[in-house]
Amino acid sequence: MSTNFGKITVVAKDGMTNLIRSIAAEKHEAGQPFYVLDLATIERLMDKWNHSFPNVKPFYAVKCNTEAALVTKLANLGANFDCASIHEIDTVLSLGISPNQIIFANPCKSISHIKHAAAVGVNLTTFDSKLEVDKIKKWHPKCHLLLRIKAPSASGSLRPMGKKFGVLPEEIEPLLHYACNVAGLKVVGVSFHVGSIAQDPTIYRQAIANARAVFDIAHYLGIPKMQILDIGGGFRSTPLFEEIASVVNEAVQDFFPDPNLKIIAEPGRFFPETAFTLVTHVIGKRVRGEKIEYWIDEGVYGSFRPTLYNSCFVGIKPISMKESCEIRESTIYGPSCDCLDKVAEDIKLPELQLDDLIVFYNMGAYSKCVGTKFNGFDMLTTPTYLVTTNST
Ligand SMILES: *Cc1c(COP(=O)(O)O)cnc(C)c1O
Repeated sequence: MSTNFGKITVVAKDGMTNLIRSIAAEKHEAGQPFYVLDLATIERLMDKWNHSFPNVKPFYAVKCNTEAALVTKLANLGANFDCASIHEIDTVLSLGISPNQIIFANPCKSISHIKHAAAVGVNLTTFDSKLEVDKIKKWHPKCHLLLRIKAPSASGSLRPMGKKFGVLPEEIEPLLHYACNVAGLKVVGVSFHVGSIAQDPTIYRQAIANARAVFDIAHYLGIPKMQILDIGGGFRSTPLFEEIASVVNEAVQDFFPDPNLKIIAEPGRFFPETAFTLVTHVIGKRVRGEKIEYWIDEGVYGSFRPTLYNSCFVGIKPISMKESCEIRESTIYGPSCDCLDKVAEDIKLPELQLDDLIVFYNMGAYSKCVGTKFNGFDMLTTPTYLVTTNST
């Protein structure tokens, strides 16, 4: 991991820009972008989570951002973890986190990954097919299972899960019967994921109602009482979050009056999105009439991959070395030779020069972790500097 553990700079909220300037001046020339992670933001988000969801344990979905300092901070704040592969499991375990705190929330796992989970003691996973039951029975029969059901609506989130995951309503009874009564495995609950960036809080209510139906089917099949409801991810730290939380809390009361039910969630984007700031350099420039085009040292084969779908969430702040600059219509390209590698188009920016900084906010979700080495630009090892902002 590339995190500078040990050194956390404390900075006033309005001192970020100066800090960024000084890191850039001392350590990073053009061609070397870097991240700043504000650990105080993670603390504030955990407070927000606990306040809105006092009875829902978050299992942070580490695929969203695997930065060690982030995962460690979340563990210290009481989070558990959602992993999908051997590598993610090992990353979390290597930070001293217990296997009991991990859910292997990938409904289709290769045998080697199932064996690894058994070997290291990760004993909770999800499934949505008969073959998965067979594999788990053979390689990890003590594992507890959650049945992954399909989330209700395709339009309730910006990136729905589509056909890939979740059983259909008519598959529930035969699959539960097979897993519990034929294979003899322990199905202890139900999970769903409404899709990333949920837009419509009522899809959580529908999904929770559907989960209730599964609990009832299990009861009818004579399966030991299920205990876990896993409401998945899809959350962002926006005002909609509180609305979703109250819809979920109310639906749980309505459909699951049992006080012994254990409710968990798998938030990904919620925690890192607003805590990470990406700092890039202007590495090239072309003036064409009224418009200016810039090249920077990060692009869509690196942290900007998600901006291909939802660039609207990212905040852009230029930091120029010159004082007053004229505002110009601007386009920003990434460094590779692919014409798709464009970060922003027709935005208003003060005119920038070679080596000036362009800072991007809200860059913590599905950013560095989806980077590549395409064209020889290594977008996987961008370093992260840790800060704690205090707002007083
Ligand atoms: C990706 C993923 C998550 C996290 O999703 P967000 O939309 O980032 O909250 C949670 N659970 C599962 C199973 C996932 O695949």
